[in-house]
Amino acid sequence: MDTIKIVQGDITQATVDAIVNAANSRMLGGGGVDGAIHRAAGPKLLAACEKVKTKNRVRCPVGEARLTEAGNLKAKYVIHAVGPRYGIDKNPENLLTSAYQNSLDLAVSHGCESIAFPAISCGVYGYPPQEAAKISVSVCKRPEYESLMKYFYLFSDEMTAIWMAKLEHP
Ligand code: ADP
Repeated sequence: MDTIKIVQGDITQATVDAIVNAANSRMLGGGGVDGAIHRAAGPKLLAACEKVKTKNRVRCPVGEARLTEAGNLKAKYVIHAVGPRYGIDKNPENLLTSAYQNSLDLAVSHGCESIAFPAISCGVYGYPPQEAAKISVSVCKRPEYESLMKYFYLFSDEMTAIWMAKLEHP
């Protein structure tokens, strides 16, 4: 069975066990998909983020992920993944790969059966979408994640077409 699906739409409406947020290292909300997730989840999500352990104001280093409850979202968990800022952070391929991998590992270790991803780093962080699509699809296809249903929520026609093409012709 195909365990990767592409959806064009708003990730805050996903009915999955875990919704992945394209967060920043401080994990206190922001613009783009991060803002949309916090608005839809309500203040409980921010309160949960504030409880996450901090080191020098960093809750989640680039390339890592942290799991919290999901407030008012129709999901059990939000997984806050921090992708690289393209052209600023070194080794962006490795960092984007590990942001996806750490998110998937957290979902598996918390017993999730389904997970929804936005296009991490492809907004304000400037990652070229073709390359991001290739990385995200290849990590999601790894056999260790076969038991999870993986959804990509893309916002525009263009982004949806890029992910579809990578899924069909990797
Ligand atoms: P980053 O800072 O990691 O680049 P952004 O939030 O700026 O994150 O953008 C990541 C991607 O999420 C972009 O392609 C953007 O269009 C998309 N996006 C924004 N809001 C939503 C939403 N509600 N659902 C799904 N995708 C969204």
